[in-house]
Amino acid sequence: MEIEVLAVGGYNEFGRNMTAVRCGKEIVIFDMGIRLDSLMMHPDIEMENTHSLDLIQMGVIPDDTVMNQLEGTVKAVILSHGHLDHIGAVPKLVHRYNAPIIGTPYTIELVKQQIESEKKFGVNNKLIALKFGQRYNISNTLAMEFVRTQHSIIDTATVALYTPKGAIIYALDFKLDRNPVLGEPPDFARLKKIGKEGVLCMIAEVTNVHKKGRCPSEQIAKNMVRDVITSYEDDKNAIIVSTFASHIARVKTIAECAHEIGRKPLLLGRSMERYCVTAEQMKMVRFPDTTSVFGNRRVVERTLRRLVKSGKEQYVPIVTGHQGEPGSILTRIAQNDTPYRVERGDKVMISAQLIPNDMNRAQRYRLFTLLKAQGARIFDDLHVSGHAYCEDHYEFVHMLNPQYIIAAHGGIDITSEYLSLANDMGYTLNKDFLLMANGQRQKLA
Ligand SMILES: [Zn+2]
Repeated sequence: MEIEVLAVGGYNEFGRNMTAVRCGKEIVIFDMGIRLDSLMMHPDIEMENTHSLDLIQMGVIPDDTVMNQLEGTVKAVILSHGHLDHIGAVPKLVHRYNAPIIGTPYTIELVKQQIESEKKFGVNNKLIALKFGQRYNISNTLAMEFVRTQHSIIDTATVALYTPKGAIIYALDFKLDRNPVLGEPPDFARLKKIGKEGVLCMIAEVTNVHKKGRCPSEQIAKNMVRDVITSYEDDKNAIIVSTFASHIARVKTIAECAHEIGRKPLLLGRSMERYCVTAEQMKMVRFPDTTSVFGNRRVVERTLRRLVKSGKEQYVPIVTGHQGEPGSILTRIAQNDTPYRVERGDKVMISAQLIPNDMNRAQRYRLFTLLKAQGARIFDDLHVSGHAYCEDHYEFVHMLNPQYIIAAHGGIDITSEYLSLANDMGYTLNKDFLLMANGQRQKLA
């Protein structure tokens, strides 16, 4: 059986991830994501109402017209986790394939919500929620399994696709966190077993491979956040925290710290509501009983007005906008576009890192300048990454012992950073360590 990999999206840029693997006449697709910074270049665009071909042209979603090169039938669309750069293009592309969408339960729930809000295309693909460790038969020759891992969103999986020539491992994105704040550590025993049984190819994200050592555990972020928030137990000023709405473990930490110093956590914003309420309804997280969630813009305004009236010291608003995104709550607060006024000595905490692109840099600079001008004290980078570092990758390769490695999730400037590690481990560029570009195919067997 011939096996080949087609890099569809996310190999020339950071975002819009999509990879196809052809095994004989059967094709499996991994992820269908969007590129967020391309979307930000078109602030007037309403995703729900825009045709996929226009979005492809703008570089927002993967150019899946290259799929025509592959001879075979798509049998499954497998989603690794619920971040938008991995699932955001599903409602735009998936209807072209007569195949089920398979993801872990939380990911499938997020995809379901996306499909419901899609206005351009009718998506009727079957949705299959598969738990970690369950084997699913895609066809008579292909099977798959989600292996539990950790990342900055709950229910993230490393995918094992079982072919007659060995397993294909799709590891976008992951971190080897042995002390997670939410969920279990990665399933090391299972990964080792798969490695022993034989891995033909590992497709791995390499976002942080240039960083030395191991990625710090989410426990470290918890300590950082707790250390800062609890320092202001007797403070009468406002404490506002901004983090990723999809980072449920982090939101939980912040809410618990607020509760600990006697303040009520307020989760504000549509995305906060979507990710956190979904997780809570699925019983994947429990926030302190004093927590409230408000998504709708008008309700958020009303809540902020009430908060100002009854005393800022009673609450910790947890909001979106850590990158300075226009229209986000933190940006609107900084611009005095809400009933909330920043006062001298108010604390603004950013539990996130800058996502490094020039647009974010400019927007964040503007956000911080506005906040500082009003007397806010800013605490930046209360954060650890959700992506494996160099020594995590070393351990990962050791466990899986793949015949081929394909570095993914970024342009060659990022993926080539893996080269020296691959060399250290006995792999050779263009022989068994492969760098690909969007639209390229690579035969493995
Ligand atoms: Zn991710």
